[in-house]
Amino acid sequence: MKYVYESAAYGIDPVADSYWPTTKPLPELHPLDGNIQVDVTVIGAGFTGLSTAYHLAKVGVNVALVDAHYPTFGATGRNGGFCCLGGGKITNKQLDKLFGVEERRLYRQTEVAAVNSAQSMIANLGLDVDAHSRGETVLAHTAQRAASFVTDQMSVHEDYGVSATLHSKDELLALGMDGSFHGGLTIPIGFGLNPRKYALGILSAAMDAAAKVFCNTQVTAITPARDGYELMTDLGVIHTKRFVLATNAYSSEDLLPWMAGRFMPVQSSVVVTEQIPEALRGWTSDQMAYDTRFLLHYFRKLPNGRFLFGMRGGLKFTPRSEKNIRKLMRADFDTMFPKWRSVKFQNYWSGLVALNRTMAPYVGEIPGYDGGFAAFGYHGNGVAMASFVGGIVADLVQDKDPSHPYPAVFRTVPKRFPLGRQRRWLMAPIYRLMTAYEA
Ligand SMILES: Cc1cc2nc3c(=O)[nH]c(=O)nc-3n(C[C@H](O)[C@H](O)[C@H](O)COP(=O)(O)OP(=O)(O)OC[C@H]3O[C@@H](n4cnc5c(N)ncnc54)[C@H](O)[C@@H]3O)c2cc1C
Repeated sequence: MKYVYESAAYGIDPVADSYWPTTKPLPELHPLDGNIQVDVTVIGAGFTGLSTAYHLAKVGVNVALVDAHYPTFGATGRNGGFCCLGGGKITNKQLDKLFGVEERRLYRQTEVAAVNSAQSMIANLGLDVDAHSRGETVLAHTAQRAASFVTDQMSVHEDYGVSATLHSKDELLALGMDGSFHGGLTIPIGFGLNPRKYALGILSAAMDAAAKVFCNTQVTAITPARDGYELMTDLGVIHTKRFVLATNAYSSEDLLPWMAGRFMPVQSSVVVTEQIPEALRGWTSDQMAYDTRFLLHYFRKLPNGRFLFGMRGGLKFTPRSEKNIRKLMRADFDTMFPKWRSVKFQNYWSGLVALNRTMAPYVGEIPGYDGGFAAFGYHGNGVAMASFVGGIVADLVQDKDPSHPYPAVFRTVPKRFPLGRQRRWLMAPIYRLMTAYEA
């Protein structure tokens, strides 16, 4: 199949040394074995696909969920576990201009609804996901950025109806957020979780509700047929009335021509340290946090005393580029947490997130594919949003009006990026410009 990155980026290498698989095993799953017939097939078993399949199965829909590798193989099994606001990068100004004030408000409420919905799903399914942190804290990497937090505080109130708390440099220290930061802003929405435990919890609920789950089953072609579609795999044909494309940044360019060029896959990388020796002190807070850089760093102390540190950036997957990213992460970590220079990185992995030209997720029917649906483009914040969106897709697939907020921008088909399969290189000057501007 044709992809945007080097083929190794879609294999097992980037995730071979991930920390999350050490925390919970996968259940026993099997590949497809021969032809089957179902009402709905969900392609891709990350948060989008798992949640869609769960919501369909629990109301009795005959649904199959297939993954080219295994559930959680993609970004879902690689993320930092920030269950937080986000999902898009669209600004209020753009929302007002394109959709009006009411839609802007609905969009912001949707971000909050996504976090609340993740919390309810965890409670209702009785999942233990190692949750911690009361909201998230943004940390200023310059004094100028710290000064602008006063305006951000007002925006948080306007957008989400909550009061964010400002922190001076000294207050951060007193709160245990010891690092090279100039000030902070705590937004009291969201929490940290173990993404694998959350995702496998949804998988288990979907399987209990009789969803048919197949691992190592790559869909290689989608062919219109009488009464639906034939999904081709090397292991059999899935005859399905409807299908959902939930492949996000791991989509190929040639499975569905409509999808080609419509998302921008970009890399994010994570390290997890050894358990931090108490004698070293430093960051003691269990608050999840990120900094104000364009290519942001995101980090949190895990409940077991290890530290998770992630970073955006990277447009290649080669042994050399991976080595460079690791080096860069070490250098940034040492600058940000100088007391921890001796702390070892124990796990390193990377993955792909998807951006859309609308700067927001797309959730809806695929034009030209009657009964075909897609949901993608969470801009690096899909733990809450992708699992929330699964509920919307499940309603759409059943021809129901979504029972959750469904803002207009989600229904707006993103235009294609220029440059086709070479499009990742459009990001290089943007990264260079923004990092030079911040320096
Ligand atoms: C390193 C990293 C850190 C992140 N940190 C955070 C964070 O802290 N908080 C947050 O909110 N978000 C974070 N994200 C983003 C978040 O993980 C994603 O937005 C979310 O997981 C997307 O879920 P998904 O189900 O749409 O896609 P994915 O989880 O990527 O799943 C897509 C699946 O489709 C499968 N697939 C692809 N093609 C086919 C095919 N032809 N046939 C069958 N299966 C196929 C793949 O194998 C894959 O399992 C991070 C992402 C990364 C990579």
